Amino acid sequence: MKTYDAIVIGSGISGGWAAKELCEAGMKTLVLERGRDVVHLKDYPTATMAPWEFPHRLDLTEKFKEENPLITKAAGFDESTKHFFIRDADHPYVQEKPFDWIRGYQVGGKSLIWGRACPRWSKYEFTAPARDGYGIEWPIGYDDIAPWYSYIERFAGICGNKDGLEAMPDGDYLPPFEFNCVEKDLQKKISAKYKDRFMIHGRWAQLTEVRDIHKRQGRTNCQARDLCMRGCPFGGYFSSNSSTLPWAAATGNLTIRPFSVVHSVIYDEQKNKAVGVRVIDANTHEIQEYFARILFLNASALNTNLILLNSTSNRFPNGLGNDNGLLGKFICHQNYRGSVGGNIDGFEDVYYYGRKPAECMMANFRNLKKKEMDFVGGYMAFMGCYRRRGATTDGPQLGEDYKKALSEAGSWGCYMYMQGETIPKETNRVWLSRDKKDQWGIPLLVTDVAYDQNDELLLKDFLQQASETLSHGGVKNIEQFDNHWAPGRDIHEMGGCRMGRDPKTSLLNGWNQLHHCKNVFVTDGACMTSTANQSPSILYMALTARAAGFAVSELKKRNL
Ligand SMILES: Cc1cc2nc3c(=O)[nH]c(=O)nc-3n(C[C@H](O)[C@H](O)[C@H](O)COP(=O)(O)OP(=O)(O)OC[C@H]3O[C@@H](n4cnc5c(N)ncnc54)[C@H](O)[C@@H]3O)c2cc1C
Ligand code: SF4
Repeated sequence: MKTYDAIVIGSGISGGWAAKELCEAGMKTLVLERGRDVVHLKDYPTATMAPWEFPHRLDLTEKFKEENPLITKAAGFDESTKHFFIRDADHPYVQEKPFDWIRGYQVGGKSLIWGRACPRWSKYEFTAPARDGYGIEWPIGYDDIAPWYSYIERFAGICGNKDGLEAMPDGDYLPPFEFNCVEKDLQKKISAKYKDRFMIHGRWAQLTEVRDIHKRQGRTNCQARDLCMRGCPFGGYFSSNSSTLPWAAATGNLTIRPFSVVHSVIYDEQKNKAVGVRVIDANTHEIQEYFARILFLNASALNTNLILLNSTSNRFPNGLGNDNGLLGKFICHQNYRGSVGGNIDGFEDVYYYGRKPAECMMANFRNLKKKEMDFVGGYMAFMGCYRRRGATTDGPQLGEDYKKALSEAGSWGCYMYMQGETIPKETNRVWLSRDKKDQWGIPLLVTDVAYDQNDELLLKDFLQQASETLSHGGVKNIEQFDNHWAPGRDIHEMGGCRMGRDPKTSLLNGWNQLHHCKNVFVTDGACMTSTANQSPSILYMALTARAAGFAVSELKKRNL
């Protein structure tokens, strides 16, 4: 078949939702995925392996690291997860300035390997960029997206507590993972000291309780094994593979075509709309064309920019929908540079059980309702307390004493690391190389993204405030750390095809439609007008489900 009702490009977090919503609405939907197929349960080869069953005890060989200096930097990349990430040599790009572009090319995309943090944005993050003059106005507000957050939370299964915070609104949550005893103590001390700093249970896409809707997906409770990035045999965390894609397939309306590298969108100048996509078979390099009435771009933020920039025609010589020349500009990301940590005395007679695949969160308390700092934007933090392995021993760390010490629980530690907003700037951008191409003849993406003074000030404030907060919580010997990561390593790249009210300053309208090509919807991170401080993926999911519903209703009204 070459013609469908809808085509979705990419099968990751956002593409899975587009597929589910469109298929449920009765649309014959083709999902084009550049990577191999990964079938839930069947294709998780390391999911139940013990460390000693791996040839290198989870470590990577020096040769592998030398050959893959970029992708081996990714959080959680080891011998048990490496099959869900790309290899550097297969997917080059050009770094005008250092930028770590972390990718997972397979059915399910990065939904298999994501960290699963799912806090909501508050109403303030939608208004702060225009209010504080560092961005354009979002065309939607919190009230537009709140019902869609709930819709996603119920289906995907997000755990968390109802904390009643303005900075991080409550959702439709399953029960949270418990704090351990030291986290409970820390929370009490922080609350006693601060009126505006809230250490809360994190909100995570883990099934702490299984409801009927999850059973119907074939998923069951998270067993607290903390091996999620290998793929979960219980469906304990949300991924496209365990949830949205099988649900879409069950409608009988889904076709997934793996190994299909989308080259560009085909624009019909007579019809004034997009009519399909050009695809290169990843293995044979054969070119195919597929057609549909609507297209959803969900190839992940930078790949979606690449595809649109590569979709040129007489009408759009600079890329599809790019009349204002802003496509590929205002790329932003999140600032993960700062962390602090220290020791907690006492509590040596208490322990915890299981491996909680979750962390505590601290909601943003900077510039929430008005600009109060010498920087704009805010930061949230992830945090936790844990017991180290190995009782403290004097003398050399070897021999029988050391072995014995290792079988004892050690002292308590505590950490906190930031997730900060970055400013969307025209100078942070991506474009297509004029002379360098990949193995499929597609121009390489050039990335030109850097931190700025605002990021440095925000980082400095986090390090000071996090240290102060932990010290009031009883944490000793606090150390501050700036990892100096390049942008991109946060794996929360966004923007380039931003939403907005005005076609002069944005590419997409409030329904994620290209202003100038209405049957093309962009609902992955490329659409983001600003980054906020919260983890972004649940917002991509909510925007996708909302846009898919709108697209179907517009099709029914024959508006597309
Ligand atoms: C280690 C790690 C931890 C993370 N933790 C969190 C977290 O805690 N919370 C959070 O919100 N986010 C987190 N993220 C980020 C999250 O994974 C991404 O935001 C999310 O996956 C983006 O969804 P997406 O649909 O845009 O892209 P993806 O999930 O990456 O899916 C895109 C898909 O498109 C395919 N594709 C790309 N180009 C083409 C093409 N030309 N043709 C066809 N197919 C194509 C890709 O192969 C891929 O399957 C984390 C990511 C990683 C790797
Ligand atoms: S911690 Fe939960 S979700 Fe993660 S792999 Fe284990 S059972 Fe699955």
